[in-house]
Amino acid sequence: MPEQFYRNAYLTQFDTRVVRHDEAGLVLEDTIFYPTGGGQPGDSGVARDALGTVLDITDTRRDRASREIVHLSAPDAPRFAAGTEVTLTLDWTRRYRHMRLHTALHLLSCVIRAGVTGGNLSAESARLDFDIGDEWVLDRDQIEQALNRLIADDYPVSIEMTSGAALAAQPELIKTMSVTPPLDLPEIRLIRIEDTDLQPCGGTHVARTGEIGRVTVKKIENKGSRNKRVVIALAD
Ligand SMILES: [Zn+2]
Repeated sequence: MPEQFYRNAYLTQFDTRVVRHDEAGLVLEDTIFYPTGGGQPGDSGVARDALGTVLDITDTRRDRASREIVHLSAPDAPRFAAGTEVTLTLDWTRRYRHMRLHTALHLLSCVIRAGVTGGNLSAESARLDFDIGDEWVLDRDQIEQALNRLIADDYPVSIEMTSGAALAAQPELIKTMSVTPPLDLPEIRLIRIEDTDLQPCGGTHVARTGEIGRVTVKKIENKGSRNKRVVIALAD
């Protein structure tokens, strides 16, 4: 299934057709809406038909069984008939903040060279959990400075495709210990930050690190004996 957000995270509007719209949600032939996953929230926005009916999409999920992307809305929202042509418009303000913070997390994993055991982000802040014990003291100012230096260096961010077999041969690329990507897939997407980072990831990212803008390290918390949580936020 082609999924436009996977190739081009900057598509904010897209014409497609309804496959099915029932109580479970709206399924489309293709979409620019990112489904919740990898710690990144699902997209919101609207779908509009030629008659002007507007459906507010509040969240986007991927069905575990069918792997279809399902667009969710309020139970009393209008429903489109199968085959209806609709125009999707993303809540771009929210999504772009996800893209900036998501890319910032990749950089954070380069500043702190330790195994990542978890991560999450919203439009306001983002966090990574690291497999670090008490022997390693994390300095908030140092991390913030190093992170903002990588951002200001404005490295290009690009997408590369690889196979599960090729990735299995380079396990050092898999930083996220708790969420190893499935290695039996024919195609796995890698995100390269020039001269800085390469890792498998299915989320949405900005095209250059400079787009992230200034970030702050909000807090560093101990979450268990071998778990340090670093929370960052966009300065704006
Ligand atoms: Zn990513």
